[in-house]
Amino acid sequence: MVFMNIVNGIPVSNGCRKGRLFIIPDRNETEISKNSIKPSEIEPQWNLFLNAVQQVKNDLQSMSDSDNPDEKKIFESYKMMLEDQVFIDEIKKEFTSRLLNISYIVLTKYRKSAEMLIAANNDYLKQRADDICDVYGRVVQILNGSEKHNFDNIPQNAVVFAKNLQPTDAVALEKKQPLAVILQEGGPNSHFAILIRNYGIPAVFGLSAFPKSAAMNDEVIVDGAKGIVILDPDKTTLEEYSKKEQQELSQSRRLSALKKQPAKTKDGFVVSLFANISSPEEAQTALKQGADGIGLFRTEFLFIKENRLLTEEEQFLAYKSVLQTMKDKPVTIRTLDIGADKIIENADYKGLDEENPLLGWRGIRFCLDNKELFITQLRALYRASVYGKLKIMFPMITSCDEVEIILKLVKTVKASLKKEGLPFTEDVPLGVMIETPSAAIVSDFLAKKCSFFSIGTNDLTQYSLSVDRDNSKVSSLYAETHPAVLRLINTTVKNAKKRRIPVSVCGEFASRPEGLMLLAGMGIDQLSMSCAMIPAAKDILSRYTATELEQIAKKALRTNTALKINEELKRKLDK
Ligand code: PEP
Ligand code: MG
Repeated sequence: MVFMNIVNGIPVSNGCRKGRLFIIPDRNETEISKNSIKPSEIEPQWNLFLNAVQQVKNDLQSMSDSDNPDEKKIFESYKMMLEDQVFIDEIKKEFTSRLLNISYIVLTKYRKSAEMLIAANNDYLKQRADDICDVYGRVVQILNGSEKHNFDNIPQNAVVFAKNLQPTDAVALEKKQPLAVILQEGGPNSHFAILIRNYGIPAVFGLSAFPKSAAMNDEVIVDGAKGIVILDPDKTTLEEYSKKEQQELSQSRRLSALKKQPAKTKDGFVVSLFANISSPEEAQTALKQGADGIGLFRTEFLFIKENRLLTEEEQFLAYKSVLQTMKDKPVTIRTLDIGADKIIENADYKGLDEENPLLGWRGIRFCLDNKELFITQLRALYRASVYGKLKIMFPMITSCDEVEIILKLVKTVKASLKKEGLPFTEDVPLGVMIETPSAAIVSDFLAKKCSFFSIGTNDLTQYSLSVDRDNSKVSSLYAETHPAVLRLINTTVKNAKKRRIPVSVCGEFASRPEGLMLLAGMGIDQLSMSCAMIPAAKDILSRYTATELEQIAKKALRTNTALKINEELKRKLDK
């Protein structure tokens, strides 16, 4: 008999869905059972292995079809590993003598080789170990029936379950439109989570107790708002959730009516609501959802989607398209914020595989060290500037020094465009993201150097509380309402107002009910969020007067723990 099983996790994206489980095997820890085989199975299994090797070679070939010589070199070396006859002979010897399934033999063999290379404690050999794991890991995944990045088999009505997924996977998953996504690990503010919310897919992460016995096609209910997953639901639960789905539908119809209304508090204080987007196509959705403009275009996802660097022309067309779609509405485009979990796999930037990437080569640091790439993006942005109301924003700023270098580069870019006779808007507002504690603390200085601030609460919270936003083990410590975070936000707002420059918030906090209350209460009148969240945000704001919100924010700023602040906010929301 099968019993209903309720598994608790972290709420990531709202919505209740009932569907069938689709399990994505973990890439890094593929566990393959050891099975004995009969001598008659040697030949067919060996042929499967050779075919898998060939398939990986073909995949690598199509990935290396580029003009980039460095890229070509890497894929060539990968191909050579697959053609290493000594290694292949060793696999064959072990396979035929031990009479064990080929996938098990290949897995143990490449892992052993990688361990030996790692033990040599040499950076070059460590890199080779990674390469072997990557190349032969692909072979094993094919043998095991699960190719890397292959979501082709996801059926309709699937609830996708995986150990953890990356932003690149979100881009691929969107095409399959699963009913919901559930992860064993992952944090609610990871880039993967942000994208999934953007796509309006309900999600629950951090399901550490998800039973190993769960199988493909099991019936499952996902409650994104509560952060629970119910396996093999009983009849009463199924009925309860059918009702919930109906309620959600009528709620979304009610919110739909708000799309065309401006966002206002009960007493008419207007708050501009902008959209966070990660592709030019989403600009259309932003308009449909009633956005007042684009508050954050995460341009790195253009590159991640293509899995390569984009040319100036390609970027120009993407930026131009967003500006044209949004017409006279402002569009804030952020320069590349790659590094950490946002990696462009086919761009050969050695050094992005760092020990501690969140504190490493990310965002503006990476761009200022790769000036050619940065200048290409600035040129594309300025060329697109004549097609709408562009604002350019820089991520991961920590000091005025960085801003000064940026301003010099901008000057050079403008001068060269002028020389080439290419039109651009002279006075594009240049702003910085306030997403590191240092930037918030020196925001009085920064305010003198730029035209606007946008507060990135996702990173600001991560860095001020030392809590990895992607790690479910510490996600209970990740609190945007921590007094330290609220003080940094308040300092930034005050410094922006003193200097009379606009300040907005584009982190996920801006779309949560508690965030909306506190941020609007602190006097922030520009908030940017996932397109899907805009109507609900209008609804929340319309329930309070500006004075009420101001009082709520003032009280929160006087309170010493996130717990107490959250309790108070919950009371206000439930009222
Ligand atoms: C942020 O850090 O709040 C932010 C908006 O940037 P991202 O989520 O892309 O890191
Ligand atoms: Mg950020």
